[in-house]
Order: sequence, then structure tokens, then C-alpha cells
Amino acid sequence: MARNKKLLLLPGDGIGPEVMAEMRRVIDWFGARQALSFEVEEDLVGGASYDERGTPCADATMDLAMAADAVLLGAVGGPKWDDLDFSVKPERGILRLRKDMDLFANMRPAVMFEPLIEASTLKPDIVRGLDIMILRELTGGIYFGEPRGVKKLIGGGREGINTEVYTTPEVERVGRVAFELARKRRNLVHSIEKANVMESGLMWREDMTALHEREFVDVELQHMYADNAAMQLVREPKQFDVMVAGNLFGDILSDCAAMLTGSLGMLPSASLGETDATGRRRALYEPVHGSAPDIAGEGKANPIAMLSSFSMMLRYSFDMEDEADLVDKAIDIVLAGGLRTGDIMQPKKARVSTKVMGEAIVAELNRLTA
Ligand code: NAD
Repeated sequence: MARNKKLLLLPGDGIGPEVMAEMRRVIDWFGARQALSFEVEEDLVGGASYDERGTPCADATMDLAMAADAVLLGAVGGPKWDDLDFSVKPERGILRLRKDMDLFANMRPAVMFEPLIEASTLKPDIVRGLDIMILRELTGGIYFGEPRGVKKLIGGGREGINTEVYTTPEVERVGRVAFELARKRRNLVHSIEKANVMESGLMWREDMTALHEREFVDVELQHMYADNAAMQLVREPKQFDVMVAGNLFGDILSDCAAMLTGSLGMLPSASLGETDATGRRRALYEPVHGSAPDIAGEGKANPIAMLSSFSMMLRYSFDMEDEADLVDKAIDIVLAGGLRTGDIMQPKKARVSTKVMGEAIVAELNRLTA
């Protein structure tokens, strides 16, 4: 059955185009073998866009992003653009996409791949079978709150100010995403704040509780202070299913959770916006890693974070659970078979290039569906 979904691919800079090429291989496989044809457009973002158009994200690119069912981004940035003015730096391209698409919910799964269990700095028993989802509010909180700034004080010294601000609608919309996600997983949400010392944290807790009672009583809700959550993440991470937090705590906890599982080259992410009247939800999928200028152009990049981002797109934008499971399973089997890119290399395993890793995963897709 053909289901025409519009995808916008933005490979970006550095290893972005290399990992995107392997994702394209998987898209083509779905087109050829599963009659799952995507309408694919490709455009420039980041430094590549600046070089050609003088801006890291052109209006025309934004128009394509707004019209797409999902946007898939590689990575942006690199030393070539380090001296540019802040307003046109490659990273501004991603910020524009996030802002204009109003992507308020950032999802980062932390999943332990059994073949890579030795890559974690935690004991195998603590992380074996780990599968948690960190949901971070992305457009509000202290990174955007007013007043902000640094001012000189009369009599000497300075005062630096940032303000944590959340409104009930902001808490509720990210809360809804958390509860809906949990319904598709193990039905448990931990809501994270500092209600003991911050008024905005207490309001977050109260608003989450009210939303839970009103719309999601079938899901288990627990509250946890952010400092305890950080400790519990490294003590006993498997107690969690979905963790939801504001921008600042979510930023910290998602990085912490990422390291439970090992390499940056393995970590996907999704950023979601509102659902519109037609039922379509704006969404951007991208690896957590950057453009890795130190290995760009050498065929050393691990494409799995990009491929897992594609799998998240199948699951969360298009409800294609079987297809997403298929991609995840192919990745798992290839890793179990001993193929490794340099970043996840282990003794007695076979070091392969970006392309060979992509080809092996497609070969496994063929085998699984033969
Ligand atoms: P990075 O994630 O690009 O690289 C950090 C280290 O991890 C490097 O040693 C790199 O070789 C390695 N690495 C990253 N991804 C890998 C992969 N898929 N396979 C194998 N190894 C991988 O972070 P950085 O070096 O701090 O930043 C480099 C550039 O990327 C900067 O310009 C930064 O601003 C930008 N950046 C972009 C994004 C993004 O596009 N979302 C995110 C972070 C950093």
C-alpha cells in the first residue's frame, strides 16, 4: 500500500550528508520493497545554505519545512563558519526551524543495545534492557524567560538575570505529549521539577496533576525533584519510562541519559509541534550529534543515529510501528553480528565505513522481509 508522505531532507554540513546518504538508502529500500513511497525533497541548511544563499535557513526552505509531513536533518556547523556573525551562524538554521515550526517537545530515547553494553560507563546489570524516553520542553522556561541580561550595579560589580517562566498551556501541551507517549509504552510518566524551592516548579506539579486527573487517569504519574531524578538516572535508570521536564532540567537530564548508552553516533531525537486541524503534527527528526568536522569526508561516521531518527519518524509521525520495529531490529542484528564504525569499535569486532554499515542494515532489512 502506497502512503504518500512528504519528507524534507536537510543534510547540512560535515558528516550530515554522509549519514543522510545512508538514510536515503533505507528510504529507497522502503520505496522498492515495501511499496511505501515517500515524496522526498532535499534542501540546504546551516553552513551549506550560508555559502550558497547568505543565510543558514532561507525562507524557501522554511516553506518546504512547513509543507512537509516530517523534516529530517543531518547536522550543521564546522570550523569554516566559526567566525561568522552570530545571526548567520549555521546553528541559527536549526534554531529558526525549531522556532518557526514551534517545536515545543523534544524527545530523546535512551535505549541500550545489548551488543554495545560494554560501551556504557555503568555496570551491565544497571543498563541491560534500558529503554526510556526523555521529553524536554523546548521553547519556554529559563532559556527564553524575561527579564534576562547582565547589568552593572551601582557601586561596582554586575548582576546576571535569567527567569524561569511557564504558563499552564505550556505545561499542559508538553504534559499531553508525555502521557500520550506513555500510553504507547509502559504507561508511566515521571514529571520532573523543583517544586520544593521554585514557585514555577510547584505550579508545574499542580498543572501536571490536574491534567492527569482530567484526561489521563489510566496512566501512572509520579513527581520527582530534578536533583533526585539526576541521581536516580544513574542509580537505577530502568525505574523510568517517560520523563518529562522543562527546558533547563530536560537539557541536563537528556544528556545524562544519553551517556547511559554509550556513543553519540547512536542517539536519535525528535522535536514535535502542535497538531493542526488536519491532524498533522509538525516534526523534525535529527541525530543528537553534531557535524563532527574531525571525521567529515572520511567515511567514518556512524549512520545509526540518523537511521534511528528515521525510525522515530515512522513511529511518531506516521504510526508505522511495524516498519519502525523492522528498522530497529535490522540495526540490532547488524550490531550483534559484530560490525562497528570507529566510534563504537570494540576488540575483535569488524571496523566498517559509513557506507558499509548502511549497506549491511539494508541487507538485513532484505533478509528480515524475505
Ligand atoms: P560533534 O557531535 O560534532 O562531535 C563530537 C565528537 O563525537 C567528535 O569527536 C566526533 O567525531 C564524534 N561523533 C559525533 N557524531 C558521530 C558519528 N555519527 N559517528 C562517529 N563519531 C561521531 O560535536 P562538536 O565537535 O562539539 O561540534 C562540531 C560542530 O557541530 C560544531 O560546529 C557544533 O556547533 C555543531 N553541532 C551541531 C549540532 C546539530 O547540528 N544538531 C549539534 C551539536 C554540535
